[in-house]
Amino acid sequence: MLKLNKKMVSVAIGLLLSQTACASPTSLEDATAIQRSIVTLDTHLDTPAHLVQPGFDILERHTYGHDFSQVDVPRMLEGALDGGFWVIYSPQGPLTQEGYEDSRDTAILRALAIHTMVTANPDVFEFATEPEDAAAIKKAGKLIVYMSMENSYPLGTDVSLLETFYKLGLRMVGPVHFKNNQFGDSSTDPSGIKWGGLSPLGEELVAEANRLGIVLDGSHAHDKTTEDMIRLSKTPIILSHTGTKAIYDHPRNVDDALLKKLAASGGVIQMNAYSDYLADLPKNPERAEAYKGLFALRAQGVDMDALIEKRREIEHEHPAVKATFEVYMKHFLHALKVVGPKHVGIGADWDGGGGVKDMMDVVNLPRITQRLLDEGYTKSDLEDIWANNALRVLQAAKDYSESLKTAK
Ligand SMILES: [Zn+2]
Repeated sequence: MLKLNKKMVSVAIGLLLSQTACASPTSLEDATAIQRSIVTLDTHLDTPAHLVQPGFDILERHTYGHDFSQVDVPRMLEGALDGGFWVIYSPQGPLTQEGYEDSRDTAILRALAIHTMVTANPDVFEFATEPEDAAAIKKAGKLIVYMSMENSYPLGTDVSLLETFYKLGLRMVGPVHFKNNQFGDSSTDPSGIKWGGLSPLGEELVAEANRLGIVLDGSHAHDKTTEDMIRLSKTPIILSHTGTKAIYDHPRNVDDALLKKLAASGGVIQMNAYSDYLADLPKNPERAEAYKGLFALRAQGVDMDALIEKRREIEHEHPAVKATFEVYMKHFLHALKVVGPKHVGIGADWDGGGGVKDMMDVVNLPRITQRLLDEGYTKSDLEDIWANNALRVLQAAKDYSESLKTAK
């Protein structure tokens, strides 16, 4: 009779275990069904930039290949995305009174565009301001619209303007974008740091956001700025769309030490799918040059249809190199390993440059759920990752603001 030795036993057990592990990979259909059964939010939807484009209809199905958009109602329904934080984004302009005022007006119009999307489609969308709104809106069969601000530049030098935006429904605010501004240092300003983190006005912004019950967002902020925000904010902060330096060392990503500090203070990182921040992709100078030409046309006021047509030509001649879905998940799983499922969520930067191979719009979001289930994360973890972590941070901001009112 064959006697098994120790090595043979361990090989046999290993084989058995690997078979059980591979025996039941989650089907995309099952992953989608599970995702549909829970509240799902993306904390950085740049889609409002499309809302103000003539002819863009959020109710219609678009394709990335045709107009480069990534979010609309039919695709949200197919990809089991219930909503998220719809962004008022402002490009960084000159730090002058005139610059601030122009940008302020554009930001107010953008907030109104978000409201118009909701009020024009009351059976489809509902505006959310409170943490508990998300579940109630989903239950009512509608899509969830929280509002956030990327780049506080339009607030100028008077942080009291933040209250006006709060009254318009704003519940998340990030001080900076690509460049340093009046509130602090950006992670990507080519001139390096100016303030050493938050500026004195940036510190005022943190206090004002805390007072109002607005979540602070450290995405795009320099690490020093993020550290200042964690230290000064009375409530946990969020990184609404950010990756990990351990997987790709880019200034837009955070290292494990900062990630741990964020989590220790109760904060959350929402995983970004912006390809250039996920991996060291080959440079394409011809493509960059072609895009420069496109931006010049835009500055000349060439109409949107012509610009999209031109962009399609560029994409055909010099196709973009995108990071893979696997690389995206590497960042995701690394963050989960370092801080756990109570401190990680999703903010893929849709309509703001996000998207990876095999996940170029929200239709493919169930792939994330599928992968996380296959990695052993539970439905309860998915509820945290897909919404509860971000909502917990919003609840903390609200509770702190309320506590100030009752203390009076
Ligand atoms: Zn961004």
